Amino acid sequence: MSRLPLSSFVRSLFLHLRTISLILPTLNLTIMQQAWKEYHDQHKDRFLDEMLELLRIPSVSAKSEHKEDMQRCAELIRQRLLDSGCDSAQVMPTAGHPVVYGEKIIDPSKPTVLVYGHYDVQPAEPLELWTNPPFEPTIVDGKVYARGSADDKGQFYMHVKALETLVKTNTLTSNIKFLIEGEEEVGSPNLATFVSDNKELLKADVILISDSSMLSMDTPSLDIGVRGLSYIEVEVTGPNRDLHSGTYGGAVANPITILAKMIASCHDANNHITIPGFYEDVVEATAEERALMSRAPYNEKEYMDDLGVQALWGETGYTTAERTGIRPTLEVNGIWGGYTGEGGFVHSSSGSAGCTS
Ligand SMILES: [Zn+2]
Repeated sequence: MSRLPLSSFVRSLFLHLRTISLILPTLNLTIMQQAWKEYHDQHKDRFLDEMLELLRIPSVSAKSEHKEDMQRCAELIRQRLLDSGCDSAQVMPTAGHPVVYGEKIIDPSKPTVLVYGHYDVQPAEPLELWTNPPFEPTIVDGKVYARGSADDKGQFYMHVKALETLVKTNTLTSNIKFLIEGEEEVGSPNLATFVSDNKELLKADVILISDSSMLSMDTPSLDIGVRGLSYIEVEVTGPNRDLHSGTYGGAVANPITILAKMIASCHDANNHITIPGFYEDVVEATAEERALMSRAPYNEKEYMDDLGVQALWGETGYTTAERTGIRPTLEVNGIWGGYTGEGGFVHSSSGSAGCTS
């Protein structure tokens, strides 16, 4: 379930305001912070209402039935960018779902920050696991529960409201551009083309990606790099037809058993990935970089409590921050095969698994 702690929204907002303003530190930071806080205190209810309105739109990029919702969501963001201080904003078509672009140029000779975010969300199924409907945001204990609240509507909207705060308090010291795409959750198939077609429009000195998380509830964070992703689907098939387990069981390899063995063999006893060549070209972090990483605040108990696990798992010799930050991993994101419907069935023919690394 997605959830966005409101307190972290505010803390992150201030961190990002500070980051943006530090690019050109021409104004006194303390005075600016005071102005931002006052503005935020006056408008925070509206900020929240606006974000909830976005969360109510089921902008599920993977499902064609939501095509109109995607367009509606993009139009709303365009309007919000204009309301928040952008000089211009537009919904730009791609071969898939549109990109929303907006900009506030105060002086072309000053540095430009490009904020990236995405308005599409993952499908919310299985719906029965939701305590509240995924597109009816619910606030419990200061946290917003809704699909997309923490990936990525909450994050990118923070930047939109950061722009409004900077504009309205006359503290904007750099140019700001927004690129909010609608296909991140399906692998951004049209983003590369969009970027190369709009090089001039997107030109920037700094790119600020809103699509990340905080180290902890109390630690606003700026990531300086992210891991890439490649996705494969493996299908294992065996005999030329479904086989009855009572007749053939024990005599012919069951593709699901083979698939399970293949997956299990992908990690050794040290949770090191066994696929030949997997670690080729992986850049090893230096001792100095690892020492710097270890200084970032991290509370293992909080991390485990948040996930409801008794122990952590991962590659021997690396910390959790390193396992999730500088080491490649191999994850099984889905597995299916045979008959999984109601009642029993005694045939099986193939099994598939989707993996990312
Ligand atoms: Zn995301």
